Amino acid sequence: MARKFFVGGNWKCNGTNEEVKKIVSTLNEAEIPSEDAVEVVVSPPFVFLSLVKSLLRSDIQVAAQNCWVRKGGAFTGEVSAEMLVNLGIPWVILGHSERRLILNESNEFVGDKVAYALSQGIKVIACVGETLEQRESGSTIEVVAAQTKAIADKISNWDNVVLAYEPVWAIGTGKVATPAQAQEVHAELRKWFQTNVSAEVAGSVRIIYGGSVNGANCKELAAQPDLDGFLVGGASLKVNSSYKFASFI
Ligand code: PEP
Repeated sequence: MARKFFVGGNWKCNGTNEEVKKIVSTLNEAEIPSEDAVEVVVSPPFVFLSLVKSLLRSDIQVAAQNCWVRKGGAFTGEVSAEMLVNLGIPWVILGHSERRLILNESNEFVGDKVAYALSQGIKVIACVGETLEQRESGSTIEVVAAQTKAIADKISNWDNVVLAYEPVWAIGTGKVATPAQAQEVHAELRKWFQTNVSAEVAGSVRIIYGGSVNGANCKELAAQPDLDGFLVGGASLKVNSSYKFASFI
């Protein structure tokens, strides 16, 4: 089965009402290939989800950047998967390295979150990736495999999961992974699925790359056989005449 190219824009904790409206109007005018060819998803902060959803063209989907690990209730400050369903938000990003490292989200906690969001019918962009220290010590594959295993331990169906390989050293640093570095990890992850989940999942799961992707470096990355799209942070916030999601394909 062909894997549909996926482009996600992670706006992180940025934006005002006015700025968000500007990005949306830029996107509404952008030339984007048809939904049959590419799946485009943008992820604004929680407080702008409804605004973005109401103004954005219908062929671009909306994702939250996180959600609570189980049913909502007495969890001050959290947002539940049920609330996202209620707002009609189809996707959520889980396990982003900023949450793993700054907010101490463990592999197991991320696995539980992925399982709960899927159980509520929300599709998940699940992030994995190694730190510079881990890369330099030669443990990249071990790290991303452990992060992926913690998710695999909690779910049995990968149809609604996109796995984002995001090396921490590449996020927001301007130091993009080389196409060969990205391909190597993506291929190893696919091999991991083949051995530990199934050949079918290994062939069908989309593995996207994130970390300092921009219009200039995306083409060579996209040409790698095991790379099925991007999660774009900083560049997805840039509103200027050259801003085009199409340029990431
Ligand atoms: C991200 O935060 O998911 C990301 C990939 O950021 P950037 O593109 O800015 O490196």
